[in-house]
Amino acid sequence: MEVILADHAGACYGVKRALDLAYEAAGASTGAQTLGPLIHNSGVVKELEEKGIGVASTLDDISADTVIIRSHGVTPEVLDALNEKGCHIIDATCPHVLRAQKAALDLSERGNWVLVLGEKGHPEVDGLKAWAACGGGKVSVVSSIDELPDNLAEPIGIVVQTTQTEELLESITQELANRGLHFELHNTICSATSKRQNAVIELAQNVDAMVVIGGKNSSNTTRLFELCQKYCHLVFHIESIDELDKSSFLDVKTVGIAAGASTPDPQIASVVDCLRTY
Ligand code: SF4
Repeated sequence: MEVILADHAGACYGVKRALDLAYEAAGASTGAQTLGPLIHNSGVVKELEEKGIGVASTLDDISADTVIIRSHGVTPEVLDALNEKGCHIIDATCPHVLRAQKAALDLSERGNWVLVLGEKGHPEVDGLKAWAACGGGKVSVVSSIDELPDNLAEPIGIVVQTTQTEELLESITQELANRGLHFELHNTICSATSKRQNAVIELAQNVDAMVVIGGKNSSNTTRLFELCQKYCHLVFHIESIDELDKSSFLDVKTVGIAAGASTPDPQIASVVDCLRTY
């Protein structure tokens, strides 16, 4: 069986940066905690814990002096609370997410009805929503055309969750145009995401099966999985090789490998090595 790794598979700039900052903090004598799991990867979270970087699920769980903000970023309220607690903050918010937060705030301060295109309840989207709300304007989180408010009115500003698809953005902007509404667009989809998605679309069309590696709760990995399903009839979303069954690949001559932005290289390598033995 031929195993083909998609271009741009695996950990992105923002995740690598967050991991580097966390591993640097591992040497701190006063201890450090991440606010929420640093990345959607249980193996990496466990490894960090072994190095003394624990996870605080909520602000109340914080017991260490140093707190690491993950690449998704946080709301202004959380930032204020951390400062009030006197925490030493290591801000690993991805610069691309920071850019989206600033755009959300700026649009809102200028009186726009801010549309945050993204997945409701995702920490990055919650952050974008809160930054927009901070500017005093109206904010709506929208993940499909059906969720666009009926009474939506100009001026409208748009920011996009960094891991969203261009397809969602296009469908929403098309619908706004159909309604005759004008808008100011900040396409904050991260190029790491779009490059990864385009590479996966290309590969999925040319193989018999696709294996997508990454956390089941990772939104960018889930999106890769969904894209693969559009272009390939046999697709697996796994966190580790143990979840694959050799018998599923009996008729497969070529398999493509995709990996989410929070999937470390060694995890990808182990899946590739194992599939090559099938
Ligand atoms: S996918 Fe893009 S925005 Fe998200 S952490 Fe990675 S580099 Fe940053």
